[in-house]
Amino acid sequence: IFNFAAGPATLPENVLLKAQAELYNWRGSGMSVMEMSHRGKDFRSIIEKAEADLRALLNIPEDYAVLFLQGGATTQFASVPLNLCQPDDAVDYLVTGSWGDKAFKEAKKYCKPKVVWNGKSENYVRVPSFDGLELSPNAKYLHLCANETIYGVEFKNYPVPGNPNGVLVADMSSNFCSKPFDVTKFGLIYAGAQKNVGPSGVCIVIVRKYLIGNAQEITPGGLKEVEKKNERKAGVLYNAIDESKGFYRCPVEKSVRSLMNVPFTLEKSELEGEFLKEAEKEKMVQLKGHRSVGGMRASIYNAMSLAGVEKLVSFHEGFPGKAYL
Ligand code: PLP
Repeated sequence: IFNFAAGPATLPENVLLKAQAELYNWRGSGMSVMEMSHRGKDFRSIIEKAEADLRALLNIPEDYAVLFLQGGATTQFASVPLNLCQPDDAVDYLVTGSWGDKAFKEAKKYCKPKVVWNGKSENYVRVPSFDGLELSPNAKYLHLCANETIYGVEFKNYPVPGNPNGVLVADMSSNFCSKPFDVTKFGLIYAGAQKNVGPSGVCIVIVRKYLIGNAQEITPGGLKEVEKKNERKAGVLYNAIDESKGFYRCPVEKSVRSLMNVPFTLEKSELEGEFLKEAEKEKMVQLKGHRSVGGMRASIYNAMSLAGVEKLVSFHEGFPGKAYL
């Protein structure tokens, strides 16, 4: 088969066969790569070699970090503005095809991007002449798509950002490692691996180290944010229990109540069976407490949404036979 897909692309057969064997048993470790600790020495040797090879291949200087990330190149459409600028910052986008357009539209959520050139009216058949470009003198970065996969338009050389302190950012998803290029012209390069360098699922980011560490406040991530959400969810549920005038009761002392597992009982324990049955009809399942203690237990781990907890609370409030209403 000659696979002309825009990606995932053909991988060399010898590479695939080697990968297949190593997937089963990585260098005599008896484990596949999917079974290894991602911090263990076997996996570290794989990822460190990949980085060293890429650094050698592209001559990547030490002041650049090389990141192997999840989420495909699409995630970078948001990650780039989130990490390189603040909400009121100006940034420039050259739009030479639909990927560049998508990147621009995503950036609008996080900063003040401006399209400084758009090839749409000509059906994306060329790149602009750099001389006539009106680049913003204060833009934090100038973004372009080095090769527009759908329209087949490729930059053969690159413009310099309008702001001397700004950086050039390129989506190189579909021409990464297809030819040499000078990494030092760029502040950040990103590329989904699935065209020229590997299977889909990995996005490679090469970024000047000084650009890292200034992410916007709202950038998702970190357990502080997760904790905030969990506190809100648990708060809604405990409040409903505490304000039910004893109809529902949580036996745990307030200062040590779990954010994850909320046990509660009904004052009239004979109604528990009905409570569980009615809840199930409303598509709320597994609310029965552990058999060793009885009662009810709502486990509200990270993936339980606030909407789920709110539904349970409104069910609590409407449950028939509530003495306090
Ligand atoms: N950018 C370009 C130039 C692409 O060709 C593609 C996918 O084909 C993407 C971004 C999106 O990449 P991903 O599917 O890895 O999110």
